[in-house]
Amino acid sequence: MKLVILGGPGSGKGTQAALLCRRLDILLVSTGEIFRRAIAAQTELGKKAQPYVEKGELVPDPIAIELIRDRLGQADTSRGWLLDGYPRTAFQAEELDFFLERTGERRPWAIYLETPEDVLLERCLNRRDKRLDDSPEFVRRRIQLFNERTIPILDYYDYCHQLVTVNGNQSSDMVLQEILAGIMVNK
Ligand code: ADP
Repeated sequence: MKLVILGGPGSGKGTQAALLCRRLDILLVSTGEIFRRAIAAQTELGKKAQPYVEKGELVPDPIAIELIRDRLGQADTSRGWLLDGYPRTAFQAEELDFFLERTGERRPWAIYLETPEDVLLERCLNRRDKRLDDSPEFVRRRIQLFNERTIPILDYYDYCHQLVTVNGNQSSDMVLQEILAGIMVNK
């Protein structure tokens, strides 16, 4: 099984991604986590990504695309995977499909956690494990980028009949149940 999970900052993507991967026994790939770890370790990737990640801007497509190609080319991906934080732009979504086509794999299912903007903002500003990019200014920017760059991808997955939209504004248990029901119906 191959899945991508889409949602604004604070939509619960990371939480659901972890729950789903445990339940479905698939690999979790979180681009935000990979960038944050690379920045902490000051690797080449980390140095390149740092100025963008810290300000809530998107890391340029070529960097994100190369990262995912490398990661999905590794052997541990054969049992299936879920991408958290990728794709974030139409170009990234297309590149992912090209990559999978080349290796003869099917397109992933997309899960969208639909959540009102005021809830996104409130959750990011009030979370316990707050990050540097969780300040009001950067959260607003991340929401704006989500609306401008990531929302258009939903049409792309919907057109390919591969989109499961769930209500992100409810308990994480309920969200998980809705996602699992959506995936099972559509499988
Ligand atoms: P959130 O969804 O809460 O904004 P993430 O952990 O998914 O948080 O991402 C954190 C940051 O990492 C983003 O603001 C961006 O700078 C960078 N990032 C993660 N994934 C991508 C991607 N696919 N393309 C570009 N930038 C990315």
